[in-house]
Amino acid sequence: MPSEFDLIAQYFTRPAPDGVLGVGDDCALFPVPAGMQVATSKDLLVSGRHFYPDVAPRALGHKALAVNLSDLGAMGARPIGCLLGLALPTAEPAWLAGFAEGFHALAARHGCALIGGDTTRSPHDLVISVTVFGAVDPARALRRDAAKPGDDIWVSGRLGAADVAYRLLDGQLPADPARLAATRGALEWPEPRVALGQALGGIAHAAIDLSDGLLQDLGHILTASKAGARIDYAALPLADALAGLPEPVLRRAALGGGDVYELCFTAPPEARDAVLAAGAHTGAPVARVGAITAEAGIQVRDAQGRPLADLPGGFDHFGPA
Ligand code: ADP
Ligand code: MG
Repeated sequence: MPSEFDLIAQYFTRPAPDGVLGVGDDCALFPVPAGMQVATSKDLLVSGRHFYPDVAPRALGHKALAVNLSDLGAMGARPIGCLLGLALPTAEPAWLAGFAEGFHALAARHGCALIGGDTTRSPHDLVISVTVFGAVDPARALRRDAAKPGDDIWVSGRLGAADVAYRLLDGQLPADPARLAATRGALEWPEPRVALGQALGGIAHAAIDLSDGLLQDLGHILTASKAGARIDYAALPLADALAGLPEPVLRRAALGGGDVYELCFTAPPEARDAVLAAGAHTGAPVARVGAITAEAGIQVRDAQGRPLADLPGGFDHFGPA
């Protein structure tokens, strides 16, 4: 078994970007551009709760960072660097190499170098905790409390594939290898919308990344902004890989499915062209799916304008299993 320090040196030490003090000292040091604030966020991933213990280590390394970069995107922040906390039941070289490869590859693509962390042996399960740092102009930050009645509601990308993959792997949907193959990438390799979030700064009002389901995550914007919403069900952009699934499965995946890591954001109707340009410029499809209302609550309407009943809830770690 390698020592803690060998392990850090081999798998988690990479040259720090210019002007940054990275792994190896008591703290990392990084500059913050003048006029900007530090945006920071942390996610914990626990084996058996957030990922299957046998998931490919490279995918896990990618996703552990991706879910954090997604939070930076949802704030409109530019990544600066990240910290990695690892509580490891064992130190398998092949697992560590794969995990580090997935992590560093995504970090390099987003300019979010690993600049520190903590590593310990765990007497229990594998626990991974990543903290990200970014920079954002506070006047352009995409805060949850900034939605205004009359704003359009937009989502990026396509919805539902990660939920279907999860339910196939969990046995909640009948086995369907072709559909699992077509949806699994969305669950295991989410691409955080960091460029889109930054491009929406100064254009969009509020944003959130979709981790627990559209209705639940949009609900956080509505609570913070003291507003309500109308969603046009037919306008929701479903992943192609969901074609042919029964309507209740589609509805749950679209409205309640988690692990999406797309952005849900609001912007005034005058900004429609600017939003479309931001999407096109950053390679992110964007769809207008509803509007913010002054009345509280979320109403989901079908293509005929009738309210949909039996809406799914989202994921709550402390809710019923
Ligand atoms: P300390 O005793 O001050 O906590 P450590 O011995 O835990 O320091 O860590 C030594 C150095 O390695 C520090 O710079 C720390 O940030 C870094 N480090 C530890 N674990 C990781 C990790 N998993 N990923 C990246 N850097 C790490
Ligand atoms: Mg330490």
